[in-house]
Amino acid sequence: MEVTFLGTGTSQGIPIIGSDHPVCLSEDSRDKRLRVSVLVEWDDFSYVIDCGPDFRIQMLQNNVKKVDGILFTHEHADHTAGLDDIRPFFFRQGDIPIYAHPRVLEQLKIRFAYIFATENRYPGAPAVKEFVIDNQPFKIGNTFVTPINAMHNRLQVYGFRFFDFAYLTDVKTIEDSEVEKLKNLKVLVVNALRIEPHHSHFNLEEALEFVEKVKPERTYFTHISHLLGFHAEVEERLPENVFLAYDNLKISI
Ligand SMILES: [Zn+2]
Repeated sequence: MEVTFLGTGTSQGIPIIGSDHPVCLSEDSRDKRLRVSVLVEWDDFSYVIDCGPDFRIQMLQNNVKKVDGILFTHEHADHTAGLDDIRPFFFRQGDIPIYAHPRVLEQLKIRFAYIFATENRYPGAPAVKEFVIDNQPFKIGNTFVTPINAMHNRLQVYGFRFFDFAYLTDVKTIEDSEVEKLKNLKVLVVNALRIEPHHSHFNLEEALEFVEKVKPERTYFTHISHLLGFHAEVEERLPENVFLAYDNLKISI
């Protein structure tokens, strides 16, 4: 199984438009972060988690030829705003399967009404096939994915476990019964926003405490803000087997 980090930045991305913050001005390519998303591939299957405003460029940069489906963590724009850009995949493959909490599907229908319309459809509009996630394992490709329920302040979000890989983003709190689903992971991906606490995201300290609890073999942090600091400096201070993800990083599991 191969995982590609399509984007590892927080909602505004890095650099932030108009910002003179040193991290936004960094020349290190690892300090440039598109909005969070990963591509998960195994056998002939290829799924993406979230579809933010950088989706098009992420597909181009990674030469993605096929998307078998999109799994949504939650409805915030940095995770959903690129949905129109499934068009090239839709033209080649037909309706694109999407997997989400019922609340997220309702939000997508408001924001992208034309994608879900059943009458008077614009001929170039893409179409999707909806699948509801209800915190039970569900089948995609030839395997089952386990949803992990967590909270982004007061908003419910889903993480996902595929085999021995789990991806969680925009988490602030998670119940022990959900942490139980994360035993024996080879790779954990989880959000670590910045140094200072935040009302709806793990900061670095909380993300490290979470790693201590889950005890995966390796961890990659994502959904990173410029306020976490320079990639190279932060990564040097992390414990063994804990890394910062960066855009276009590929890992094999
Ligand atoms: Zn987010």
